[in-house]
Amino acid sequence: MLENSKHIIIIGAGIAGLTAALSLRHFGIRTSIYERSPKIISAGAGIQLSPNANRVLSRIGVLKEISSVSIRCHGVKVFDYKSNQQLALFDYMKFKGNDLFYFCHRADLVGILYAACQKLEIPVYFNKKVEKIVNNKAIFSDGEALPAELIIGADGLHSNVRKTIADEAKPVFTRQIAWRSIVPNSIKQGDFSHVTLAPKRHLVSYPIKDGSELNLVLIKEQDEWQPDGWKHLEDPRVVKENFKDFSGGTAEVISSIENVYKWGLFRYPLKQSWYNDRVILIGDAAHPTLPFLAQGAAMAIEDSFVLASKIFEFSNSSVAFKEFRRERFPRVQRVVLASTKNAHIFHLSNIISRRVFQVSLRFLSKFFPHLLVKRFNWIYDHNVTNKHYSS
Ligand SMILES: Cc1cc2nc3c(=O)[nH]c(=O)nc-3n(C[C@H](O)[C@H](O)[C@H](O)COP(=O)(O)OP(=O)(O)OC[C@H]3O[C@@H](n4cnc5c(N)ncnc54)[C@H](O)[C@@H]3O)c2cc1C
Repeated sequence: MLENSKHIIIIGAGIAGLTAALSLRHFGIRTSIYERSPKIISAGAGIQLSPNANRVLSRIGVLKEISSVSIRCHGVKVFDYKSNQQLALFDYMKFKGNDLFYFCHRADLVGILYAACQKLEIPVYFNKKVEKIVNNKAIFSDGEALPAELIIGADGLHSNVRKTIADEAKPVFTRQIAWRSIVPNSIKQGDFSHVTLAPKRHLVSYPIKDGSELNLVLIKEQDEWQPDGWKHLEDPRVVKENFKDFSGGTAEVISSIENVYKWGLFRYPLKQSWYNDRVILIGDAAHPTLPFLAQGAAMAIEDSFVLASKIFEFSNSSVAFKEFRRERFPRVQRVVLASTKNAHIFHLSNIISRRVFQVSLRFLSKFFPHLLVKRFNWIYDHNVTNKHYSS
């Protein structure tokens, strides 16, 4: 184990950074976090937390609280946009009853992680934007140069720390944009996530908070992404126009959208190198993941625990980092590829392929419902906590 006198700093107080600090403390290792924003970011959006992430959150002692502000997800229902008919049911309660799937509000998740850090007196410094890392020193925009034994880059998609590790690869626009909104749950959608499929588009909705609100993610294929940056306020009329051919309850919730943000979805080639001698990346900074399996944050949470366990296990940071990458790369690569593939399946536009897909989905759902759920066991049954030391 690295000595506690050694100074480990984490850049970014998002899901990855806060979970990493708590995981390291779980193994008895002290850290401090440096965040560019003036306070914890409490983005107004939902997040699905799957069992593979929840095992980590349980091990670091925050799951009970998260469950108290979340809705237990019973499964996923898939619909056709036009007929509004149900094409499939992924029944988690029936086939994975012991596993915990949650719908949570991001602000609640990040707030609970932050409060846990505060309780453990893990320092979180705000208004500290890292510009670059030079000779194992974090250089902040206010001019401070902070030396550290280890630097964990948890600074998200547009990571500055990543630039230290290797030449920046150009992000590729996936020709897809995402809109996010929270609307009243006027259709009384229950404890299932709804995925409504359409040619070149889909919509995911699930209840959050006390069930009175619905989190919506609407995705559409689009050739161009003009605005600079990646997150923008959108005119709700644009979304309504793009999804006006949806029917039933889905149409009702779309019509109630008032505040909506849009994102361009970019894919970064998966970087082979995630570390150098003293600096390592986790979460979106290492491997941005498209949202089509709802696994980006889950991968960040898994990363955090595995990295902490490796730092605990190996006193030599190069060995710890090498072991971390050896364990995480194949897992993350498989999730990133599967997420990308899902985008294609969700948006089939050729009428014959769509028909074949829908008929097979219906058939499987009716006669072999357990197989539908089993297909994703490799994601949800993964348990990064069971092969590592516990304190
Ligand atoms: C539409 C959509 C829906 C999604 N739904 C899900 C879902 O349901 N389930 C799921 O698991 N994942 C989901 N994801 C993915 C998930 O949001 C991300 O993978 C996750 O937030 C990554 O966490 P992170 O901590 O690595 O990065 P971030 O959440 O981006 O946090 C990075 C932090 O670092 C800070 N920072 C950035 N630069 C600097 C700097 N230079 N100096 C200091 N601080 C800095 C930022 O302010 C921020 O606080 C979704 C993504 C999208 C786009």
